Amino acid sequence: MFETLSDRLTSVFSSLRSKGRLSEADINATAREIRIALLEADVALPVVKDFIAHVKERATGAEVSQALNPAQQVVKIVNEELIEILGGETRRIRFAKTPPTVVMLAGLQGAGKTTLAGKLARWLKGEGHTPLLVAADLQRPNAVQQLQVVGERAGVPVFAPEPGSGVGDPVAVARRSIEQARHAQHDVVIIDTAGRLGVDAEMMQQAVDIRDAVSPDEILFVVDAMVGQDAVNTAQAFMDGVGFDGVALTKLDGDARGGAALSVRHITGRPIMFASTGEKLEDFDLFHPDRMAGRILD
Ligand code: GDP
Repeated sequence: MFETLSDRLTSVFSSLRSKGRLSEADINATAREIRIALLEADVALPVVKDFIAHVKERATGAEVSQALNPAQQVVKIVNEELIEILGGETRRIRFAKTPPTVVMLAGLQGAGKTTLAGKLARWLKGEGHTPLLVAADLQRPNAVQQLQVVGERAGVPVFAPEPGSGVGDPVAVARRSIEQARHAQHDVVIIDTAGRLGVDAEMMQQAVDIRDAVSPDEILFVVDAMVGQDAVNTAQAFMDGVGFDGVALTKLDGDARGGAALSVRHITGRPIMFASTGEKLEDFDLFHPDRMAGRILD
């Protein structure tokens, strides 16, 4: 994960190690190197610009510490700025005062929504919740069955249209699932919705219709980290089309660069809440900006 950026930054810092104090030229050269490292990691340009401006300002400014040498100071500043662009604090689910808490997943096909629904359900169960999974992706032929398999693995029931009831209406399924959750005392409802291969008006409208029918407490935008800056463009389209409260980043295990993780919060203003790091249900956790920054600088 993020190997390229990690290697690049390590070499920037090691070139500072022999310096007694940093001249303006040293700071400019360092800023240039960090800029290249971020651009190579596929971080969006506005994010890179802000990041570099902050690092330069802080390295030049009054933050001269007696306890740290110049290289350590730059590492500290970069670490803090990384945490900042990754979202600062860990953002947890905001549970509804009156259950069920409704979590709706939105994103493109293949982003990892159905897998994430199972992961989130398993994780919530481990936290003492009683989730219900809802199959409102009636577009993809095997989506309902896939969710049922995932639900079984997670040990979480799945609410799906009755077999043989014809093509279901995803909005009706979502609406009925809330009644079912109340009836069977599920405290969280996780709604899997249909995606398409690309941003599509019909898909967006369906997500809007489901949103309006169930008033989710949290809308999670699920996105594949491996697509880099494309993730940012898709995020923007979903933000404009449906809106969302947080991001679930998937396939971080295959993301050598880190551009999506480092850009999406700054561009959309919404925090990354969950990280998915493999195909197994347990490859999933809350997203911790400080730990992620630590891994990049490790
Ligand atoms: P959906 O179309 O958005 O519902 O996506 P799926 O949940 O069907 O996932 C698409 C593919 O990505 C499947 O083959 C998953 O096993 C795989 N996948 C999902 N999450 C991850 C992850 O975090 N890491 C890896 N390596 N693969 C994942």
